[in-house]
Amino acid sequence: MNFDDIKPEALTTLLKEVVEVPSPVGYYPETRAYLKRKLEPLGYEVTADNRGTTYVRVPGKDHKKVVCVGAHLDTVGLVVRGFNDDGTLRVRQLGGINYHSIEGETCTVLCRDGRKVDGQVICNKHSVHVFEDAKTEERTENTMSVSLIADVKCPDDARALGVTQGAIVSIDPHFQAFGNGYIVSRHIDDKGAVAVALDTLRWLAESGEKPAHDTVFAFPVYEEIGFGGSYVPEGASEYVAMDITLIGPDYTSDEHNVGVIASDAKGPYDWDLTNRLIRIAGEVCDDGKWNTQVCFHYSTDAATANHSSNNVSSAAFGMACLNTHGRERCHVDALVQTERLCRGYVMGLGE
Ligand SMILES: [Zn+2]
Repeated sequence: MNFDDIKPEALTTLLKEVVEVPSPVGYYPETRAYLKRKLEPLGYEVTADNRGTTYVRVPGKDHKKVVCVGAHLDTVGLVVRGFNDDGTLRVRQLGGINYHSIEGETCTVLCRDGRKVDGQVICNKHSVHVFEDAKTEERTENTMSVSLIADVKCPDDARALGVTQGAIVSIDPHFQAFGNGYIVSRHIDDKGAVAVALDTLRWLAESGEKPAHDTVFAFPVYEEIGFGGSYVPEGASEYVAMDITLIGPDYTSDEHNVGVIASDAKGPYDWDLTNRLIRIAGEVCDDGKWNTQVCFHYSTDAATANHSSNNVSSAAFGMACLNTHGRERCHVDALVQTERLCRGYVMGLGE
């Protein structure tokens, strides 16, 4: 296969665009509108189910088999659960928030009536010059709040701006691309994979190539709370999730790598399908830029699909990411390698 049209600069720009669309767990209006804007001009029909998942179905050379490629759109965030007396917002996590990693970060409060209010995540013991225990206070959802960037002194001031219990907090991505290809940003999990899926769809539209089988690209919005892949599009016999892979002890990986996940917190992925992904990686990825791994601290939508009694074989792969669920870091190489593997899979290599 020829991958000359996978341009690192274009993928980086695309990732920046995708991470800047707010999408905390379950909040899909803006991402769905974005996917429509991006994909309809390429001739795709963008649909959605009743569970918030957006789909693009691409007819294949063979219609007897349907496969699903997923990249979750949701990101970790917060939901407003109440008010402190000073008008700061008490919150509850949406997904596995590491509170230390969001202290001081700016955010947007997405109100139920459509208004948006700027905010900042702070520790209630926020200033070393004020609080003796500012450094030692544990950072949890009981000690951290969202402080609105406005003249707010009491709960009614916050309510007057449109904030209610149930408002959603989107943590700003704080995207930075460096000249040597490194990217630091929140929400590379899983917007990196979304960018790869979008670029693969662009390639299919522009080249006129057809996938081996009818292929459904799925963009679920509940992965970070564990059930994004619990519904599988009708007829699909394979669910392959593109999601982050890991760097650290036990992981023979770095920011340049795509990883094939052999097993995760829910157990092993399908033997044959995973071995096929490994064969494809060996064929299409650069030497030293792919690996296999066991992600035992987390799970993907593909494992959820399997555990929700769908009759699918499941597998997963994706770009390696450092500092996960914080300001994450990868290199654009990892996105390029992930796209090569994605294209290899949809084109039926290794079958
Ligand atoms: Zn993820």
